[in-house]
Amino acid sequence: QNRAMPDYLSGLNPEQREAVETLDGPVLVLAGAGTGKTRVLTTRIAHILATGKAFPSQILAVTFTNKAAREMKERIGVLVGGAVEGMPWLGTFHSIGVKLLRRHAELAGLRSDFTILDTDDVIRLIKQLIQAEGLDDKRWPARQFAGMIDNWKNKGLTPKDIPEGDARAFANGKGRELYRAYQDRLKTLNACDFGDLLLHPIAIFRDHPDILKDYHGKFRYILVDEYQDTNTAQYMWLRLLAQRPKGVPQNVCCVGDDDQSIYGWRGAEVDNILRFEKDFLGARVIKLERNYRSTEHILGAAGHLIAHNEGRLGKTLFTDRSDPDDEKVQVHAAWDSEEEARAVGEEIERLQRGDADGKKHALNDMAILVRASFQMREFEDRFVTLGLNYRVIGGPRFYERLEIRDAMAYFRLTCQPADDLAFERIVNTPKRGLGDTTVRTLHDYARARDIPMLAAASEIIETDELKPKARKALFDVIQSFRNWQERLEKIPHIELAEQILEESGYTDMWKNDKSAEAPGRLENLKELIRSMEQFESMRGFLEHVSLVMDAEQNEDLDAVSIMTLHSAKGLEFDTVFLPGWEEGLFPHQRALDEGGRSGLEEERRLAYVGITRAKRRCHIWFVSNRRIHGLWQSTMPSRFLDELPAHHVDVAASESNYGGYGGRGGYGQSRFDKADPFANTYSTPGWKRAQANQTNATRDNWGTRSGHAVERIGYGESGPRTRTIEG
Ligand code: ATP
Ligand code: MG
Repeated sequence: QNRAMPDYLSGLNPEQREAVETLDGPVLVLAGAGTGKTRVLTTRIAHILATGKAFPSQILAVTFTNKAAREMKERIGVLVGGAVEGMPWLGTFHSIGVKLLRRHAELAGLRSDFTILDTDDVIRLIKQLIQAEGLDDKRWPARQFAGMIDNWKNKGLTPKDIPEGDARAFANGKGRELYRAYQDRLKTLNACDFGDLLLHPIAIFRDHPDILKDYHGKFRYILVDEYQDTNTAQYMWLRLLAQRPKGVPQNVCCVGDDDQSIYGWRGAEVDNILRFEKDFLGARVIKLERNYRSTEHILGAAGHLIAHNEGRLGKTLFTDRSDPDDEKVQVHAAWDSEEEARAVGEEIERLQRGDADGKKHALNDMAILVRASFQMREFEDRFVTLGLNYRVIGGPRFYERLEIRDAMAYFRLTCQPADDLAFERIVNTPKRGLGDTTVRTLHDYARARDIPMLAAASEIIETDELKPKARKALFDVIQSFRNWQERLEKIPHIELAEQILEESGYTDMWKNDKSAEAPGRLENLKELIRSMEQFESMRGFLEHVSLVMDAEQNEDLDAVSIMTLHSAKGLEFDTVFLPGWEEGLFPHQRALDEGGRSGLEEERRLAYVGITRAKRRCHIWFVSNRRIHGLWQSTMPSRFLDELPAHHVDVAASESNYGGYGGRGGYGQSRFDKADPFANTYSTPGWKRAQANQTNATRDNWGTRSGHAVERIGYGESGPRTRTIEG
């Protein structure tokens, strides 16, 4: 048997092999961080292909990010030797969803060239609907309603399905109508939002059994990574696709870890893991216990921390990667975030030079994982000063910058003349004397006739509804778009994009702008054009942008990665820096306020995810003062520090480790003893408890202040997408 064993199987342990080779019937791999779950999935696909059980196009594989999908494709290629052509159905729920929807758009009342709206567009649209209802949009903020819709969609609920209480909770009971109006409006715009990418296919599958049956025949194998973070809609979608007649095996394989469920705030249901065995009868549940990623110290620290959560499924994890030279998890204190960034920068340079252990370390092997995206700026600033390469993954993305969004609106409207939101965004950018009144007139005209605004514009200039000046300006806009649309199929899309930005006066607008950001914006616009090169058409490019969830910045460069903990899921690095372990930031105040115990537990899982990203070195930081929007706040070390086991952790004094800083000495009032910054805190956890009990009032006071500041940071920013979802 062994003789015939292909290479790709030989490195696996027996449990992993079982998970790879059990091709018939449902399989659930439930295992801790770094045990090879993703590797099992990748190898399983390689195995399916190598044994000829299915063609690449017959495998449906879901990953959590586009980046993970790309990596998986590459690794499969390595395993089976040579590039895998195809694998068209390997991607995120969203990217697979959009593909399905394009095929059957008409069944959802859309055309196949529908636009995917981003959060900004969605909020603008909802605001219009709220105003159209005659409601006060200050009392009933669009952003809040967008969050509600998102929650409903995550639960798979269409307007008719939403619970009565929910429907009443917004706009004096108009919640349901507003939701319905929103869906109708999307159809008119030939658009959908992210939630629809799943909801529409679910509805199509339900209403058209013949179509679903085709997919049943098509998808021989279904695989899902990071299964613990699927939401109800995703689960419904999955179950529909995995259904088979009695007696036919459901070849679905999901891998996950309940301790890494970190998207509860976005509707993920860790219970989907528990439901698996019920819904997929005869499921084989496989546990993997050997961790191949981290040292014993790192694993020990993470394991001890997560043990503070209740209601876990419980898992054993061991590693035999222990080496007496292994570094313990390091905890450092800093005065403020500037010092924190400076010290992390120095540590990175030390590793890079090889001073730390005689080995030179690549920047690619290091990552800084933050709880909230605002923390990134300090590191970015510092790294720019040091000339240290870094890349931001997830977070505020290139495509979300103002000038990029404007440019994209021009491109969108060129490709999709019904895209009213794009129209509204740029009709008066640069300024053309088409102010709010004109736009409102136009808007009403379009709504009354149920036509797109650009079309309405062509009609309205023939009437005398607008002042001559506005009419002329509008005429020019319409002419421009006609010209661009004509060129769409005739000239290369890059050229067209350049022409659009030139001829519209958009580039000039920034050239004439005297502000400090203007030069940067012009560079970004150039970069935007450059980024279109890898696409065949403008439409292809637009679709890509609407799907990109993780920024890809110069992938080839050796660079430190900076990202939120949420976007770090599934990744691994030799060295991981975890800054900002302070109460109110991590655990995040918002999660504590809103989520009670479960909120705290989700934060703890996030900490677990953070620590377990590290292979060899894990450095945790906290600061005693943090400036948030110009306000200084003194902070308390995170309770998670108390929950780390002493024997796997070293407490480092920042000053003695990194030499004296100018500046730091000036802050004589640091409450940390300089020789041992934890003398009062970490090493005597009892102190903190006593302190917390004793001075409850102080703490509350502090908590309130922090809560306020945190509000402005925006909890939603911490996710990999900047969709701000208010709970
Ligand atoms: P996470 O829960 O963080 O997503 P995971 O369970 O998906 O982790 P992987 O990322 O698949 O774990 O694997 C962790 C590391 O261990 C990877 O570097 C992987 O290549 C390595 N690994 C997994 N299985 C083996 C094995 N049998 N032999 C050697 N290395 C392995
Ligand atoms: Mg994984």
